[in-house]
Amino acid sequence: RGAIAFRDVHFSYDPARPILKGISFDVPAGRTVAIVGPSGAGKSTISRLLYRFYDVQEGAITIDGQDVRAVTQKSLRDAIGMVPQDTVLFNDTVAYNIRYGRPSATEEEVFAAAEIAQIGHFIRALPEGFDTRVGERGLKLSGGEKQRVAIARTVLKAPPILILDEATSALDTTTEHEIQAALDTVSKNRTTLVIAHRLSTVINADEIIVLRDGLIAERGTHASLLAAD
Ligand code: ADP
Ligand code: ADP
Repeated sequence: RGAIAFRDVHFSYDPARPILKGISFDVPAGRTVAIVGPSGAGKSTISRLLYRFYDVQEGAITIDGQDVRAVTQKSLRDAIGMVPQDTVLFNDTVAYNIRYGRPSATEEEVFAAAEIAQIGHFIRALPEGFDTRVGERGLKLSGGEKQRVAIARTVLKAPPILILDEATSALDTTTEHEIQAALDTVSKNRTTLVIAHRLSTVINADEIIVLRDGLIAERGTHASLLAAD
């Protein structure tokens, strides 16, 4: 479930400046494909088009063969989970923020998701260390810990499709390695689109697509792209 296909996708925010100039690729169900490239190449635009923040101007994007323009916004949101670069959390407990992924979840399910992301020990903490509504003091979370909350939320939501949009780029190297391990667990057997700056963070992707100037410049596995360098 959740096979993604981009077919000759063209997009520009400004007609005078095309961003994507005919992009075609597949993310087979359960596989991981990474899009890498320099800043401004159009990587995040690809995830915005998939989520339908914008619509393609030419070509098509399909999920399981269905054009995303024919899918309701609600079912698209249910189908896609996103771990962004900078996670913005609600000013409420970590548990509340995790539950947002699936409001009907039981306490046990919320806790199990927190454990997978290795934040079970501060599930009652307040992300900013202070809750203005109840005037309570808590623990202030680091960037890496906030990323773990976003991961736990996605674990709970369990969407067929996962977008990791530079999910580790804001972290220091040690934290990055820990988060990477959690992300690898979450993306296992799930259709995953990884957006990344560096080849070194996408070793496990089934295919890596190098985007340059709005076109696919190269594609291959981590090993084949390294060999071609
Ligand atoms: P990447 O993720 O590869 O860094 P983006 O997809 O975010 O690149 O952006 C590609 C280009 O589109 C950039 O030059 C960026 O400045 C431009 N861009 C991004 N969002 C908008 C927007 N909302 N309006 C106009 N231009 C935008
Ligand atoms: P709603 O507007 O229905 O509350 P949101 O889009 O805010 O939905 O969040 C629903 C789910 O989508 C959450 O699991 C959240 O992590 C995820 N999400 C939030 N922002 C984005 C985004 N920019 N792109 C993709 N998914 C997102």
